[in-house]
Amino acid sequence: MNRKKCVSIIVPFYNEADGIDRFRNAIAGVMAKAPAYDFEVICVDDGSQDDTLEQLIALSQEDNRFRVIELSRNFGKEAALTAAIDFSNGDAAIPFDADLQDPPELILTMIEKWEEGYEVVLARRADRTVDTYLKRKTAGMFYRFHNRMSDTKIPENVGDFRLMDSAVVAAIKRLPERQRFMKGLFAWVGFRTAVIDYKRAARQAGETKFSAWKLWNFALEGITSFSTVPLRLMAWVGSVGTLTTLAYALYITFKTLIYGVDVPGYASLLVAILFMGSLQLIGLGILGEYIGRIYMESKQRPAYLVRRHYGLTGSDEASAQSASGFGFQSRGDRDG
Ligand code: UDP
Ligand code: MG
Repeated sequence: MNRKKCVSIIVPFYNEADGIDRFRNAIAGVMAKAPAYDFEVICVDDGSQDDTLEQLIALSQEDNRFRVIELSRNFGKEAALTAAIDFSNGDAAIPFDADLQDPPELILTMIEKWEEGYEVVLARRADRTVDTYLKRKTAGMFYRFHNRMSDTKIPENVGDFRLMDSAVVAAIKRLPERQRFMKGLFAWVGFRTAVIDYKRAARQAGETKFSAWKLWNFALEGITSFSTVPLRLMAWVGSVGTLTTLAYALYITFKTLIYGVDVPGYASLLVAILFMGSLQLIGLGILGEYIGRIYMESKQRPAYLVRRHYGLTGSDEASAQSASGFGFQSRGDRDG
């Protein structure tokens, strides 16, 4: 048996029409440099409003290594990546951004490391100077905060760009959660890991799809998906508050006994009431975050819906179907 190993490059696309030609050339160039491997490029159109989908379909007709999954609407990058992973068939999978911010040549280095026996090869951004100061600082804060709170440590400055052996991919396909914080899931599964450093470039075309608000929610998602420390923190703060209040109560009791009744106490009362009230509100808010997430998970909705796919063979589909429970109900008999 002398089958070539197959590497799946998996790419989410959301309004990336301006960059598709460049993307195609870059990826085709890399694939040409590694003739010892077969490649498949799983392109997920995440409900783009421009002509990303049309261009991708044309691409898949010209070059059958490019396959296209069309989601029924915009589900977000995490869901799009999940879809791509579910449909990937290779001996290794590499998530890759359509905007070419990550150097495609690094794929070759990753494959070399993989051949050395590593099941995960992480690409770490040694230099983030293309990101704004604010983004670098907030990203750094997020990693520190997250890793302190959570048992699953996310390696700092590592994005989704990495190589995963099919064993790792199979493990990820088994994770049932619907709200998918991929960076966390990737870290959670473990396996033998190598790290390579690189410099992240600026976007080649179009603009970022992540506003500050989206990033904030993304960070919350990451922390609540992998840590219950905020809940425990509430109990701690509550206990400290109770002890302090007790001490204060003793203090005024004795003060009253010794010095007699002291009517003016308005300021301290008000402060205590406001303080406890706001603590309770914060606590309720944190509880709410978690309950909201339990609610969303309990609905068991699929992480994404596929409208149609292009260029997948029958066996690809069978393996995708057996690989994961979600995302396939709606596909019906529309397959093209
Ligand atoms: N993306 C997606 N769905 C979305 C938002 C983004 O599939 O709702 C894709 C996008 O097309 C790109 C990748 O996710 O291929 C990363 O997005 P972007 O470059 O905007 O993120 P940044 O690099 O700024 O973090
Ligand atoms: Mg980008």
